[in-house]
Amino acid sequence: MPRSYGSLKRKLEEEGARLKEEIERLGVREQERPGYGNHMADDATGVFEQTRNLSLRESLEDTLKRVDEALERFDKGSYGGCEDCGREIEWGRLKVLTYTSLCVECVRRHERES
Ligand SMILES: [Zn+2]
Repeated sequence: MPRSYGSLKRKLEEEGARLKEEIERLGVREQERPGYGNHMADDATGVFEQTRNLSLRESLEDTLKRVDEALERFDKGSYGGCEDCGREIEWGRLKVLTYTSLCVECVRRHERES
């Protein structure tokens, strides 16, 4: 494993910790305000915010899952390789999208297929 992957692992671990915090924060905020506000306008805002929090939370949990999977690949020593074609994922891509498991070409192919 090239030495430079070590910095990506730290980035992944930091990202994972940040996501967990964010998810917990969203969860706490929802519990903190049961039946918040009796006014109709307040309720509508509350529902809107809860829906928004829920979808935000889902996307955070989704990202966290991918971060965890990437860390697992680190442990297995397969990090940095494309899960589809087995080639090395472009360094520039890993730096931006640390948890990715596919190379650019495979992502493009998947997009065309879907
Ligand atoms: Zn690939």
